[in-house]
Amino acid sequence: MPWYDHRNGELFAEAVRLADIAERYGTPTFVYSASAIRNAYREFAKACAGRRVTICYALKANSNLAVVDLLAREGAGFDIVSAGELRRVLAVGGDPARVVFSGVGKSAAEMREALEAGVGCFNVESDSELERLSEVAQALGRRAAVSLRVNPDVDARTHPYISTGLRQNKFGIAHGRARATYRRAAGLPGIDVVGIDCHIGSQITEIAPFLAAADRVADLVDELRADGIELRHIDLGGGLGVRYRDEDPPSRQALMQAIFERLDSRFEAGRYEIMFEFGRALVGNAGLLLTRVEYIKDTGERRFAIVDAAMNDLIRPSLYDAWHGVVPVRPRAGATLPHDIVGPVCESGDWLARERMLCVEPGDLLAFESAGAYAMVMSSNYNSRGRAAEVMVDGDRAQLVRERESLESLYALERTLK
Ligand SMILES: *Cc1c(COP(=O)(O)O)cnc(C)c1O
Repeated sequence: MPWYDHRNGELFAEAVRLADIAERYGTPTFVYSASAIRNAYREFAKACAGRRVTICYALKANSNLAVVDLLAREGAGFDIVSAGELRRVLAVGGDPARVVFSGVGKSAAEMREALEAGVGCFNVESDSELERLSEVAQALGRRAAVSLRVNPDVDARTHPYISTGLRQNKFGIAHGRARATYRRAAGLPGIDVVGIDCHIGSQITEIAPFLAAADRVADLVDELRADGIELRHIDLGGGLGVRYRDEDPPSRQALMQAIFERLDSRFEAGRYEIMFEFGRALVGNAGLLLTRVEYIKDTGERRFAIVDAAMNDLIRPSLYDAWHGVVPVRPRAGATLPHDIVGPVCESGDWLARERMLCVEPGDLLAFESAGAYAMVMSSNYNSRGRAAEVMVDGDRAQLVRERESLESLYALERTLK
């Protein structure tokens, strides 16, 4: 990762010393590299040059306003899954027309808000959602632009919790039923059918599942055309993986090229606008979690480094058995020993990394790599711990983009009994 590297024996984020960030803002703190995010977006954009493509950023990966703002300025569209995420896009002045609204359980209130804001497209996941959306739109005297999320029944070959395109998953409309649902949609007064959509999972490290999904979707596009339903766009979702340890995902460029080749073999060039909804691939490698070692505890059985970050800050290890690289901010010269890195939370599941060869002492700073996606957004206040601060680095500048939560704020909405 060129955005984070050791220089003169210490770790930098771009041109900023991480030790300075820890000093100034405390720990645990998430640090993001603006250049890394921009670079990721620009690699996608470059691979799509000359084509009608919208790269949407899936906010759920990291919805900090500074991240959303940065990507809005780059020209990204947005994939949202709640009214809360819509508000974040609007808060940074993002264009609602470039927003697609995904998710299996949109409430009527969320639909209303999205229609009033003028979101570009609703990715609808069931017949009952379609009917509700039609009614809500009609009541507002509008028509909702709709794409149906079809479930292509493709194995993304990723962790079962983040695999979404199999028949047994809750997501999307079964491939075999999509045609009938499209016919119903075309007849509903509040619905304007504009596209088709799929999203088969996350942290996908091969090109083949994307191509299989594209084929299945293209087949449906042909069938729909035969039924007299003409679409304007094809949305192939997100899901491209990043390297945490030794994964070898295709480059952004290689994936885009392979998909375009496949689509070009099916449709005349430029017939459909192509959309994507990438989250992790835009921000995953752009962040790290900075934490300080509180104690070293040797039980005879194991050696623990107890740090000030915990599962409430970074739940991916305990939730998915995920692996994050751990690097000392100022590496020591001594002999390394295997350490389990754990937090202060009262759960045996509160571990962040296991058996890492490190030479560390209390007070040392450690950085958990690739913590830009599905990290801060999945954090909680478990054990009444305030959420970590977030800092965005851009060149030699570091800006606080979310304050550390105060402990008073954790119970500010609560009331004692009267
Ligand atoms: C989560 C999600 C994405 C983004 O997935 P990544 O793996 O982060 O790229 C895109 N679209 C939908 C519908 C999602 O639920």
